[in-house]
Amino acid sequence: MRMRILLHICCGVCAAGAVQELKAQGHSVTGFFYNPNIYPEEEYHRRLGSVQKAAEQLGFELYIGKYDHNEWLSLAGKFKEEPEGARRCEICFHARIKRTYEHFLNGDFDAFTTTLTIGPMKNASLINDIGSRLAGNSFLQADFKKKDGFKKAMELARAWELYRQNYCGCEWTRDGVTPHLK
Ligand code: SF4
Repeated sequence: MRMRILLHICCGVCAAGAVQELKAQGHSVTGFFYNPNIYPEEEYHRRLGSVQKAAEQLGFELYIGKYDHNEWLSLAGKFKEEPEGARRCEICFHARIKRTYEHFLNGDFDAFTTTLTIGPMKNASLINDIGSRLAGNSFLQADFKKKDGFKKAMELARAWELYRQNYCGCEWTRDGVTPHLK
C-alpha cells in the first residue's frame, strides 16, 4: 500500500539510502531533520547541508527541527560514560523519534519512521521497539541496513559527493569510534 511517510533523517548518507528504498516501495517521503545530539554546532550544519543536497537529488520536501544541544544533554548526558549502543543511545533514539512523532501528529501523513536503522552499528530492534511503543502502528518498522542498504547509501553519497562524517554525532563519539562511516 502506498503511504505518505514522514522520515526522521540523521544525515545525508542515511537519507540517500532510506529515501531511495522507501520510494522503491512506492511510498512518498517527507524528511524531518531533528538531531540535537550532534556536536559541535558546525558539524550539525555540515550534516544538515548534506541532507539538503540529498533532498535536491531525490526530490523530497524537508522540515528542520530545532537544534537544542543543551536540552539533549540534560537527557542523555547523565550516561556519558557508557559505551556507544548503551543507555545514552537509547535515550538519544527516543528523543529524536518522539519529536518526529509530534511532527507526524501535526501533519498529513500515514506513517513515520527513521533512517537510524541503516547504520551497521545501530540496533534496529531497539529503534523499532521505541517507535512502536511510542506510536503503535503509526511507526513503520524497518531495517534499512538490510539488502545492502548501507553499502548502497555509501555509493549514492560518493556519487553525489555528500559529506560523510566519521563519528556518530555526540561529543563522546568524536574521536572516530564509528569507523564504518569513514
Ligand atoms: S553515540 Fe550516537 S546515538 Fe549514541 S548518544 Fe551519541 S549521538 Fe546519540
